[in-house]
Amino acid sequence: MKTCLKISLLSHSPEPEKIIAAAAKLCYSNAGTKDILNGLNPEATDKFLNMLISMGHMSPIEHATFTFAAEGVSRSLTHQLVRHRIASYSQKSQRYVREGQFEYIVPPAIAANAAALAVFEQSMLHAQASYDNIADSLKETYLKEYLAAGKNPKAAASAAEKKAIEDARYVLPNACETKIIFTMNARELIHFCRQRSCERAQWEIREMSEKMVAQLKAIAPTLFQLAGPPCLYAPCPEGAMSCGKTNEKRAQYGVISQK
Ligand SMILES: Cc1cc2nc3c(=O)[nH]c(=O)nc-3n(C[C@H](O)[C@H](O)[C@H](O)COP(=O)(O)OP(=O)(O)OC[C@H]3O[C@@H](n4cnc5c(N)ncnc54)[C@H](O)[C@@H]3O)c2cc1C
Repeated sequence: MKTCLKISLLSHSPEPEKIIAAAAKLCYSNAGTKDILNGLNPEATDKFLNMLISMGHMSPIEHATFTFAAEGVSRSLTHQLVRHRIASYSQKSQRYVREGQFEYIVPPAIAANAAALAVFEQSMLHAQASYDNIADSLKETYLKEYLAAGKNPKAAASAAEKKAIEDARYVLPNACETKIIFTMNARELIHFCRQRSCERAQWEIREMSEKMVAQLKAIAPTLFQLAGPPCLYAPCPEGAMSCGKTNEKRAQYGVISQK
């Protein structure tokens, strides 16, 4: 079965911009910790945030964290996502959860090409059949072993199933749908969204990153002013690898191009 990407912001630090402004205020003023939040109205908060961002003093920005839940994404996407090291991840396990009728992500270029789509769908069916076959066969072998070793039938069946699916999953494709919850601090999120909203990132993680940017800007617009592809506010840093779509990207994010 085909599926589509969903990404939701599950939770975030309370008043993320204010807590970062408090950290900046502590660095640059005589304020004590007891009254550090006093006077941090929206204007003062924005001023501290803009100062940090313009100076590139990014460590205070690490005090705010955001937790996202993604589903309807491929294992290809999560493989790219988990390369971002300053984060915490919890992903649906293929060792513990049987892929009874696995869902899969179809790349748009394949969906738009009837011949490629037919091969792709055939390949998904084949992978499911191979997985079921291997899982059933291994399970039977393990079950016999566990029963012979004296395990009770219920425990033996459960242990045999787990042991079987952890190896059967090796035939599953990168397209296989997965779910993941991840937490990043704001500094890492800005970095992630700059890399992964760029046209050079693959379409799936780019789509997720673009949705994250919209959700983050709705909560903390000053903090996430630089989230999104780097070409929004400066010349594209990609050199010969540039997609050449700076104006399109700026239009997409509602940023007015400088003439
Ligand atoms: C378009 C694109 C193409 C890619 N192609 C490939 C590819 O072909 N092959 C491949 O293997 N990967 C590829 N990647 C993944 C890429 O190499 C990075 O692993 C990934 O984007 C994570 O970025 P990062 O290392 O900057 O940041 P994160 O892990 O998100 O860390 C954030 C920042 O923290 C700092 N940091 C984190 N860990 C360390 C550390 N151990 N030492 C010092 N500083 C650290 C760095 O400043 C880093 O930029 C690609 C990524 C993109 C966006």
